[in-house]
Amino acid sequence: MFPQPTEPTVAEPLEAVDSDCPTCGAAAVFAYRVVDYRGWLRVTKCRSCLHVLDSRRIRPPSRSGVA
Ligand SMILES: [Zn+2]
Repeated sequence: MFPQPTEPTVAEPLEAVDSDCPTCGAAAVFAYRVVDYRGWLRVTKCRSCLHVLDSRRIRPPSRSGVA
């Protein structure tokens, strides 16, 4: 069988954050929204060492124009 993915599905393009990673110092911090089985999260994460700077539940994005 296939292993479970370690991350929820990335549903948004990465958004560069103007901040260095406090753990490894890399300027590779990105924020993005993801959705998992419980709903939406906004995650701020270093793509170099994978340190999670911030992760919080958010309301689902508005779906204006979608019936
Ligand atoms: Zn890092």
